Amino acid sequence: MSSTVSVDAVVDRALLDRLTDRVVARPRADRVATVAPFSGTPLAEVPLSTTDDVATAFAAARDAARWWAARPVAERARIIGHVHDLVLDRRAEIADLVQAEGGKARRDAFEEVADVALAARYVAVRGPRVLRERRRLGLLPGLTRAIEGHRPKGVVGVISPWNYPLTLAISDCLPAFVAGNAVVHKPDSQAMLTALLARSIAIEAGLPEALWQIVSGDGPVIGGAVVEHADYVSFTGSTATGRVVAARLGERLVGASLELGGKNPLIVLDDADLDRAAEAAVRACFSNAGQLCMSMERLYVAASVRDPFLERFLARVESMRVGPAFDYSCDMGSLMSQDQLDKVRAHVDDAVAKGARVLSGGRARPDLGPWFHEPTVLDGVRPGMLAADVETFGPVVSVYPVMSDDEAVELANDTPYGLNASVWTSDLRRGVALARRLRSGVVNVNEGYTAAWGSHDLPIGGMGASGLGRRHGREGILRYTEPQAIAVQRVHNLAPPAGLSYDTFTEAMAKSLRVLRRIGRA
Ligand code: NAD
Repeated sequence: MSSTVSVDAVVDRALLDRLTDRVVARPRADRVATVAPFSGTPLAEVPLSTTDDVATAFAAARDAARWWAARPVAERARIIGHVHDLVLDRRAEIADLVQAEGGKARRDAFEEVADVALAARYVAVRGPRVLRERRRLGLLPGLTRAIEGHRPKGVVGVISPWNYPLTLAISDCLPAFVAGNAVVHKPDSQAMLTALLARSIAIEAGLPEALWQIVSGDGPVIGGAVVEHADYVSFTGSTATGRVVAARLGERLVGASLELGGKNPLIVLDDADLDRAAEAAVRACFSNAGQLCMSMERLYVAASVRDPFLERFLARVESMRVGPAFDYSCDMGSLMSQDQLDKVRAHVDDAVAKGARVLSGGRARPDLGPWFHEPTVLDGVRPGMLAADVETFGPVVSVYPVMSDDEAVELANDTPYGLNASVWTSDLRRGVALARRLRSGVVNVNEGYTAAWGSHDLPIGGMGASGLGRRHGREGILRYTEPQAIAVQRVHNLAPPAGLSYDTFTEAMAKSLRVLRRIGRA
């Protein structure tokens, strides 16, 4: 079922010691052990920062940010271009660590490497253009020169979760750097090592060390301290924590992008290519063992094609290879932790106890490793079951028949979340028309999640309880800047010329305004 290479065989302990030394923490700080999910055995000991360490990290980052913001944007972009090259050069070493720390399949680890390369290329190539000063329409044509500029926020706090330890560590930092900011970053405790490796690669690419400070520790305490000091926060995590972060930032009037949870629907219409849909649905549901914010947990299938679709889908699910392999021999790896396994079990058990049927999978697999679980497909899931209402964030998907496109839209939208959706049809106009009716920040037509996520020029993020703000695209860079409006008034002041009464002046003004409206000037 799986290749037998052990975590110890792929992990360089000396490298881990060098990396963990870079956490901003006092000498002889307390340490916390991180665990390799494939085996449940200790992987490394990471020093714990204190709130004073967070303050120290911000002070150092603030100093560095002043110097960095004054560097030409082309120079900043060049370094990010080098990050792209180094990440690809070192893809095997990175994938080993991502797997050791995250317990995911090799293909999911490589997806992170490829995604970071895409993100770095986009930021390096597009960043300077996005940040360039622009002429805007001035008050008086020819007399008022209006310029839009973008100033860096200063020091950005990045708080990232454990599920995509590479992508979610570095991809939100790169646009902050190109825009002239420094970053203080708090990864999840179970994603520290990959974040530290990503930082060391960025430094090798030429990023000044002080610009990217990594702190570690308990979410509410150390994450809370990051939120207290930051000039802007890029938060990725659960909706519950996102609300806490937003409330704190609201008090300080500091902005944030909040990339939160989802309960994503995949809709198979009656004219879909069922082979393609079934194959893509497997990836969309079970990539990273379903621990992917974009992954699908609800399949709405046109009743007329339900049986042939399910036949294809279930055959593929049954043939998935699950196990701990540091090569491409497995399709799905482990869950991240006992907590994750408990949550998945609770959702499956609750659904079955309330009358749902397991069509495939449904069992934990302790024979493969402590937190493995089979890819699981449920039928007969109804409102009131955890699997229907709450994000599982695991390899569990429920299938529902729908009688019409309208019903599919209504059910897909019947959730507080709105992160990702997928529509399958042979008629692309029908697919796009249906996509426009979905309350979802991202919709993929004839793809699960990669088409939109990988199109780095698109703004990605959630509606409703799935978040605020966007990553990727222009928006993903500009969120890290303060727009600045500069207006230069030429020739004379914006007041009645000497000797002209206000009566005459306002008459003339009203006439000019009418003319401008008539000729369609904004
Ligand atoms: P989480 O909210 O528990 O933790 C996320 C991060 O926030 C961690 O680094 C944690 O230490 C920190 N944190 C916890 N409490 C905090 C507080 N009070 N103040 C500041 N920081 C705090 O989320 P998780 O369980 O680690 O991640 C899974 C969730 O993340 C899922 O809901 C998933 O959908 C979501 N997610 C969303 C996206 C997206 O792009 N929308 C991407 C990945 C994961």
